[in-house]
Amino acid sequence: MIKFLDLKNINKRFEPEFQRKFEQFLNSGHYILGQEVEIFETSFASYCGTNYCIGTSNGLDALTLIFRAYLELGILKTGDHVMIPANTFFASVLSVINSGLIPVFVEPDLETFNISVQEIEKQMTPNVKAIMAVHLYGQLANMEAINLIAEKYNLLVIEDAAQAHGAVQVSNSNNQNSNSKVLKAGNLGNVAAFSFYPSKNLGALGDGGAVTTNDKVLAETIKKLHNYGSDKKYEHNLIGYNHRLDEIQAMFLNVKLPHLDADNLKRQEIAKRYLTEISSEKIALPFYDGSKNHVFHVFVVRMKNRDNFVSFLKKHDIETLIHYPIPPHKQKALETFNKLRLPITEEIHETVVSLPISPIMTNNDVSQVIKVLNAY
Ligand SMILES: *Cc1c(COP(=O)(O)O)cnc(C)c1O
Repeated sequence: MIKFLDLKNINKRFEPEFQRKFEQFLNSGHYILGQEVEIFETSFASYCGTNYCIGTSNGLDALTLIFRAYLELGILKTGDHVMIPANTFFASVLSVINSGLIPVFVEPDLETFNISVQEIEKQMTPNVKAIMAVHLYGQLANMEAINLIAEKYNLLVIEDAAQAHGAVQVSNSNNQNSNSKVLKAGNLGNVAAFSFYPSKNLGALGDGGAVTTNDKVLAETIKKLHNYGSDKKYEHNLIGYNHRLDEIQAMFLNVKLPHLDADNLKRQEIAKRYLTEISSEKIALPFYDGSKNHVFHVFVVRMKNRDNFVSFLKKHDIETLIHYPIPPHKQKALETFNKLRLPITEEIHETVVSLPISPIMTNNDVSQVIKVLNAY
């Protein structure tokens, strides 16, 4: 049986260190916003190349805190429109709606699954004040183009980097004098949100998330908001929340962060094998430029008659998942959007299948998947 993602064995690699650190934790007697959270915030900011990182309770809360902070600062107003790729995971949409803002669903490119830059321009109105770029499936959105549009229309750029920890953008700026600048997910817009849900490329053993930014005022506001609106015990300047990163989860993340780049490299190697060795014409392979701008959170192919394909793979002991079966605008929770026509998004949701990919898959596992796929 080739599992879609063998989380138990992914984490088993770190068990002795987890146990050693857990002993330390028990002896410390410090359970909330202790040393582990502080160490993680410093290391993750430095990993992403940003000045600030604030640990949060999960990815949805990280995204929501960003919008709440912009509202608090008067940079966004209730009812402002936020552009968002129509094929994203539902949590991206929830953060917009739960903050009293209005999502504008923008079609993605069928090739990259990421928000289409042309469609952003087409759907622009004076009500739009922000763009949420989601690096879907682990591949960076076209941030250079998105940032140019944002400059032109004076918009905020918020990254939903929940699937793209460690993805690297190498600027292809044609300015001859500037050294080409290497930037990572989390440092490609005004502010970014990460999730450390267990199945993400950097996963905790429970819920966790983070916000990264270079904006000092925004970072300070989020830091207060996520801790009862307070930065001094029992003094509350803002109507805040309890959206803190847990000390134990930070401890697990501190053990795992140094291994993230190697894990991502392994995912890229598997993806390269899939892309060169899968030869079945019935399977549409994803676009990948071969660089580090894609960390393959999931490897998504497209296919007609998906149900047939999925049951064929299941019969041959290969687990798959679908990211995602129903697009946000077709969800019951979003009744007022149900009538929208978004043909590319709908086509994606009807045809995508995610194949097994993980840092602990063996070469034999990968060969087995390829063999079965080519026999389909
Ligand atoms: C996982 C995910 C989230 C939500 O993160 P949680 O930690 O589960 O709240 C948001 N956006 C995207 C794109 C995600 O994949």
